[in-house]
Amino acid sequence: MSSSVSRTATVTDRLVEANRAYAAGFTDPGMGARPVLRVAVVACMDARLDLHAALGLALGDCHTIRNAGGVVTDDTIRSLTISQRALGTRSVALIHHTGCGLQTLTEDFRHELELEVGQRPAWAVEAFRDVDQDVRQSMQRVRTSPFLPHTDDVRGFVFDVTTGLLREVVTHSSARVS
Ligand SMILES: [Zn+2]
Repeated sequence: MSSSVSRTATVTDRLVEANRAYAAGFTDPGMGARPVLRVAVVACMDARLDLHAALGLALGDCHTIRNAGGVVTDDTIRSLTISQRALGTRSVALIHHTGCGLQTLTEDFRHELELEVGQRPAWAVEAFRDVDQDVRQSMQRVRTSPFLPHTDDVRGFVFDVTTGLLREVVTHSSARVS
């Protein structure tokens, strides 16, 4: 089949087209790879969460590490370790949100997958009911990681998808005197 055969444009075609317009107006900002604000943001992949707009972030300011739930998995720790040790970040902000898809799942999801495809995934679904507790668990996983040299500025938040506001989740260990 010839690649020149016209076909219905896919969503990826639309992205590529948008990129051409983006590149046409793009000038090399001359930046290095080290995030200017020395912060890594770990957040859910939710489509309603525009991290840069919601946090006032500009190009080059931060690392963004996203997955379903904004969960601190081994791979999240891998990215944070590289972020801190190779690229100079010092702070970590964890952002979960209201109405997360993971609140509608349970670990049965893995069992159902196994029944369907004959193989149980090695990863946990990381489903949760209480978003605040999930944020606390994520903060704890970052703070206790032996690979991360900077764990004194780790804060967790819940983003409200209906108001756009962040609410901080305070843990006893992170409560500040001042
Ligand atoms: Zn989510």
